[in-house]
This record gives sequence, C-alpha cells and structure tokens, in this order.
Amino acid sequence: MAIDALPPLREVIATHGLSARKALGQNFLLDLNLTAKIARAAGDLEGAQVLEVGPGPGGLTRGLLASGAGKVLAVEKDARCLPALSEIGDAYPGQLEVVEGDALEIDPLDHLTAPYKVVANLPYNVGTELLIRWLTPPAWPPKWDSLTLMFQREVADRIVAQPGSKTYGRLAVLAQWRAEARIALTLPPEAFTPPPKVSSAVVHLTALPAPRFEAEADVLERVVARAFGQRRKMLRAALKGLTPDIEDRLVAAGIKPTDRAEQVPLEAFCALARQVAAK
Ligand code: SAM
Repeated sequence: MAIDALPPLREVIATHGLSARKALGQNFLLDLNLTAKIARAAGDLEGAQVLEVGPGPGGLTRGLLASGAGKVLAVEKDARCLPALSEIGDAYPGQLEVVEGDALEIDPLDHLTAPYKVVANLPYNVGTELLIRWLTPPAWPPKWDSLTLMFQREVADRIVAQPGSKTYGRLAVLAQWRAEARIALTLPPEAFTPPPKVSSAVVHLTALPAPRFEAEADVLERVVARAFGQRRKMLRAALKGLTPDIEDRLVAAGIKPTDRAEQVPLEAFCALARQVAAK
C-alpha cells in the first residue's frame, strides 16, 4: 500500500534532476516501505517534533510525516532538493519546515520545541560529529529525547560496543554514558541508490534522565579521545599529556596504569574524568 499520494521517488529524482553527489554523502533511500520502517524504529511519532538532517529527495521525510509527526524540521545543504521537499510540504500543510543549510550550523530550537526526536539517514561525512555533539552538551538531559540514525554498519557497531571488543572506543563510552543505544535494523548496500560500498545500520538511542555515572562531558570526551587515540599503548603513556601526575590519577580512579583503553569500562572512565577534573 502507498504511504502517501505523492509520486514515487524515482520519478521525483528524475523530475528534479537529483543525481547523487558523493561529496554530500548522497545515498538515497527510494523504497517508501523501508523509510516507513525507519520512521517506526523511532517509536511513536504521533504529534512529535522531529529534526531530520539531510532529507534529500524526501523519502524518509515522507515516512516521518505519514507516521503522524506533528512537525518535521528538515535541514538540507543541497539546494537542488528544495523543490521536491516543497511538494511534500504542500501535501502536509503546516507540518514540514525545510531549512537550506549546514546541519552543523543550525540550532533546531529556533524552529522546534523541546524535547524533539532526531531521525536521519545521515551524510557519512558529518554523522559522527553530529552524534558527538548531541551526546556532549554540558547539561543533561538534552533537548532531544531520542536519536534514530543511519550509520555505516561499522560505526553502528562502535556505538553499541562493549569493553574488551575491538570496536569499543570513544563512541561507545560517550553514547552509553548518557543514553541507551541499540541497533534497530541493518540494511544491505542495495537498499540505497547509489549503493555504498558497505552495509548500514539504524541505531536508536534514548536519552537517559541522568548520566549513568557522574563526569563533566568535556573532560570525559578529552580523556577518551586521548585514551583511544593510541589504543595499543598503556594508559599511562597514552594519557601522558593530560596531566603530569596521570599515573596517580589513574590509580585513584581504580585503573591500572598498565591497562589499555579497550579494557576500561565506562564507570572507570567516568571516575578518571572526575580525577582529572579535580584540582
Ligand atoms: N534522507 C535522504 C534519504 O534517505 O534518501 C538522503 C540521505 S543522504 C545519505 C544524506 C543527505 O544529507 C543528502 O541529501 C545531502 O545533501 C545531505 N547533507 C550532506 N551534508 C549535509 C549537512 N552538513 N547538513 C545538512 N544536510 C547535509
């Protein structure tokens, strides 16, 4: 069954000449049943405020609106997509606001009320940076209550990774510190036009009411960036530049200075961030 009365996406792309541009991370989803499924992975959208980054020709935007979203703010850098998005706005009067620009430079709260949900098939080149920003505001809870985001499968695995695994790192620590993160669905390259080289996955993150362990976001971010920046080194070496007495602070946080970042659980990284922040 069609999810709306708008034309099929292949037709939209042909009408508006939306050939995919690699530099903008354009891999489009043209199956509206799939975009409706991604919208469902975001939970109950009835009446919700939703931020979509990179709507492109609007397949996911249509899935979100058909799922009952009260307002979708769609931020798109590629001006070629605007006429196609404006046709979607006409089919859902008052429910879609399209902003042309860079998602890294736009404050959603100028257009939406909190808490909003973020749902996006992210451009691969800015996806990780956006996720880190959403996870590290100084205060918690954040202005969003859930993030439902498409990543390359390998990045999705890093977000949900556990200590001891090769994929455990900065993304796992920051995501699991303040959110519940799980992989909602995985997609083969053929789900996209053009198909990327690798598989993708949708990660669903729900903001916790409070972080699992106390720490300052900027300090924790600095600690894990250094610790995993040289993940094969012992922590006393990897973190040497952080403070002159790093060995003492590691010990005070209950971490062996000879351990490697990969072995350190979230709770211990938070203890270390508190030690590093202490005067
Ligand atoms: N949502 C569409 C879909 O699922 O078919 C398109 C997804 S495509 C992977 C990523 C989209 O993000 C493209 O439309 C691209 O132009 C847009 N984009 C790239 N960089 C952006 C940025 N910095 N801010 C906003 N949009 C961006």
